[in-house]
Amino acid sequence: MAEPPPKPRARGFKAVSLSPVPRDLLGGPPRRAGAWTAKVITLFPQAFPGVLGLSLTGKALDAGLWALETLDLRVFGAGRHRNVDDTPAGGGAGMVLRADVLGRAIEVAQTGVPTEGWPLIALSPRGRPFDQAMARRLAAGAGVTLICGRFEGIDQRVLDHYGIAEVSLGDFVLTGGEIAAQALIDATVRLIPRVLGNQASTEEESFARGLLEFPQYTKPAVWKGHAIPDILLSGHHGQIASWRQAEAERLTKERRPDLWRAYRDRADAAARDRDPGGDREL
Ligand code: SAH
Repeated sequence: MAEPPPKPRARGFKAVSLSPVPRDLLGGPPRRAGAWTAKVITLFPQAFPGVLGLSLTGKALDAGLWALETLDLRVFGAGRHRNVDDTPAGGGAGMVLRADVLGRAIEVAQTGVPTEGWPLIALSPRGRPFDQAMARRLAAGAGVTLICGRFEGIDQRVLDHYGIAEVSLGDFVLTGGEIAAQALIDATVRLIPRVLGNQASTEEESFARGLLEFPQYTKPAVWKGHAIPDILLSGHHGQIASWRQAEAERLTKERRPDLWRAYRDRADAAARDRDPGGDREL
């Protein structure tokens, strides 16, 4: 006889909230009151939590340090067949997500969310490129509502009507917004206090100080003839810090001239602030 399916693990702490749609339309684990929350409007709620359910983000989700709600766009579809898309006005290839269908989903998602500190974002290759600064701003807020596009994207009127910010994962085209949404949520959630065991690691890592991270090594001390740089095994904390700073600068200069210029400009501005007359012509 087949084994009974394993019982789903309990996730998080329940918060009571009013909802205009039956609870079971809002997928995802119960929410602890006040926890940072991602609401995701998607045609594929089964793609969530996906990788976010694993490792540190998954444990934090279980512990109620953040919460995830998916809204199944199909539920808001038009007519008996719950249509969500139609052909583009003006012709051309593919299908476009309908304004009325998305509008209904957005209005349900936004019911009861704070007007401040809870942006409404559509994932889109046309959007502003996502970066660490955006992740920090999002993590400092109360939550986010994300719209995952599919096909050719979403009707422009929805973006205009709700003042939706478009955010891109990078200069490439994905099939849908779900992977981009998970990347954005992952980068944000790991900045929420207590999600990573060791908060110091987010202060050292790439982009935190405007530089890429220095190279990392661990055991064994020699591997296939390659040794760990002596300095890292020397125990001289000051020298190790200088080596890491120099390596971070070298890598950033080599690989990301754009970041390097911004870093130098900030350093120059900070030096001028310390010594306002220092660069005055005599
Ligand atoms: N026709 C659109 C691409 C649609 S791709 C265009 O040329 O701009 C389908 C959906 O995938 C998009 O609506 C968006 O939600 C998602 N997507 C694709 N690439 C993305 C990227 N680089 N960043 C964020 N979302 C992306």
